[in-house]
Amino acid sequence: MSLEGKVALVTGSARGIGKAIALRLAQEGARVVLSDVMEDALQATAEEFRSKGYTILAKKANVTEAAEVTELVDAAVSEFGSLDILVNNAGITRDNLLLRMKEEDWDLVLKINLKGAFLCTKMALRPLMKSAGCIVNIASVIGIMGNAGQANYSASKAGLIGLTKSTAKELSSRGVRVNAVAPGYIDTEMTRALPDNVREAILKNIPLARMGTPEDVANVVCFLAGDAAAYVTGQVIPVDGGMVM
Ligand code: NDP
Repeated sequence: MSLEGKVALVTGSARGIGKAIALRLAQEGARVVLSDVMEDALQATAEEFRSKGYTILAKKANVTEAAEVTELVDAAVSEFGSLDILVNNAGITRDNLLLRMKEEDWDLVLKINLKGAFLCTKMALRPLMKSAGCIVNIASVIGIMGNAGQANYSASKAGLIGLTKSTAKELSSRGVRVNAVAPGYIDTEMTRALPDNVREAILKNIPLARMGTPEDVANVVCFLAGDAAAYVTGQVIPVDGGMVM
């Protein structure tokens, strides 16, 4: 699984799943570009990783802003000379039942979760084609099975799965692989915000009977990013303790 010599860019990597993915890729030898909208948390994560001896570039960027994404990709390439792995991880929830869902919450979730991944993919394409690199999109089981109260989030993640498959077909002739991971119920700030009764109801539907950890997701991303997955593209791999089967 060695990623020695590779350069990886992970969006939304100041904390949570993105941070665990960045750490896992660094542990395999990749030089990692951390990026997030939260400057303080981003720099703190970068310092933590550097103190462990990893080679890190940290750059603030909002994935919905084309100019910031362009600067981010340019900074990665000029600092490290190439870009081999893009992980589109930045994402948010704004849950509500459809009748109560505000139009701005629909727009914001689609903008960050789906348009953000489109912009990062588009801006990173040239360096990724040059290095015959790969993309891993962080979708969700909710994009596969839907969920009451998450119409915006579900639509964004289903869209991300469509983006994954189309990009995989479009780029296969250039040697670029594109896959998605669909996490289930993972213990992060995002899920800690859920009320206890909702958490208990979700746990009842997980065959492996526990929440996932960010490291569970990071391990599968690391596999997809490496040569062990050289013949895998256009796939959506659930990491969900068996929620979807
Ligand atoms: P967190 O909220 O813990 O982390 C997400 C990170 O992305 C935050 O640091 C956040 O910053 C950042 N971010 C938000 N908006 C933007 C933006 N516009 N540009 C750049 N960065 C941004 O979430 P998780 O780690 O739980 O989730 C990571 C991914 O995994 C998301 O795509 C999520 O949908 C997906 N996922 C998570 C699951 C779970 O159970 N936790 C299950 C399935 C999928 P800020 O806090 O400032 O918004």
